[in-house]
Amino acid sequence: MVQKDYFQEFEKLLAQAKDLNAKIKDMQEGLSSILVENAELKIENDNLRNKLNNKNSAKANDDVSQAHQNLEKLYSQGYHVCTPMYGSHRKDNEECAFCLGIIYGRSDNKSKVN
Ligand SMILES: [Zn+2]
Repeated sequence: MVQKDYFQEFEKLLAQAKDLNAKIKDMQEGLSSILVENAELKIENDNLRNKLNNKNSAKANDDVSQAHQNLEKLYSQGYHVCTPMYGSHRKDNEECAFCLGIIYGRSDNKSKVN
């Protein structure tokens, strides 16, 4: 009688262990596919972020070159674009080292960056 109880208990535990094992395998497969999906999403997110950053910096470059062109145009029309005399007229179109520094200094920096 006591031996039979042991046998039944053993069978029961064995069935539970098999069941548990199957559940663990299921979870393992689920986890694997979640990890793969997570890795793919991370890569996709990085790619999208890079694209967005490139787009933003391209726009910033456009803005900078537009502002730079405006300064060059103002200077060629005979106005100072330098900080100390901004907007005042250049007498007899005299060259101004500050203005040239701003116009061509920036352009040099820009070409170095690029
Ligand atoms: Zn000037």
